[in-house]
Amino acid sequence: MRLLLVEDDALLGEGLLDGLTEAGFLVDWLRDGQSAITALQTQHSFDLMVLDIGLPVLDGLAVLRWLRGQKITLPVLLLTARDAIDDRVAGLNAGADDYLIKPFALTELVARLRVLLRRQQGEPSHQLRWRDFELDVVHQSVAQQGKNLALSAIEFRLLHILLANRPNHLSRTQLEEKLYGWQVEIESNALDVHLSHLRKKLGADSIINTRNLGWRIGDDA
Ligand code: CA
Repeated sequence: MRLLLVEDDALLGEGLLDGLTEAGFLVDWLRDGQSAITALQTQHSFDLMVLDIGLPVLDGLAVLRWLRGQKITLPVLLLTARDAIDDRVAGLNAGADDYLIKPFALTELVARLRVLLRRQQGEPSHQLRWRDFELDVVHQSVAQQGKNLALSAIEFRLLHILLANRPNHLSRTQLEEKLYGWQVEIESNALDVHLSHLRKKLGADSIINTRNLGWRIGDDA
C-alpha cells in the first residue's frame, strides 16, 4: 500500500520511513505542505497519508483543507504536538480520519493505519480471500488451502494491489506507481516479469489482461 508521509522533522521522518517500510508500506516522504499538494495533484495512487500539522511553507491543516476541498477521500492520519488541542479539533473538523500525539509508538501508528485502510476498503479483517488463497496483510504472507505460498516481496505487493482493487482494472502506470513509488528507475519490462511469475504461481487465469484497460485479478470462482 502506497503511503504519503509529510513530516519536516528529519529524525522523525527517517524513523517513520524505515519503520513504515518495514511494516510493508511503500512510503514517499515529503517535507513541506506545498510539495504534498503538488504530489497529490499529480499522483493518484496513494492509499494513505500521514500528515504532520506543523510544516514549513504550508501547514498540515491547509493541506488537509485543500484535499477535502478537492473531494479526495484519501484516509489521513494527522501527527500533532501534545499541547495543541485546538489543532486536533481543527484537524478532525477539516476531515482528518485519525490523529496521533507526538511522541508515539510506531506499532500504534501502524495499527491505526491498518484500521484506516480496512475502513476504506470495506474489508472486515486483515485477510483478503480470493479463490482458495488467503493473503495476510499483517504477516505479509499468502497461503493456498492453508499452505504457505512462496512469493517475493514485490509479487506479494502486486497481488495485494490487484486484490485490494478488485474487480477493477489497473493500468500499467497505476500498477507501477503503486508498486514502486518514485524512488527507483523501473526497467521497462519489470512489471511484465512480475506479472508472469505471479501468474505461474496462482494459475493461468489468475490475472486478466484487457487491451486498453490493463490488469485485474480473475473472478473469484
Ligand atoms: Ca513539524
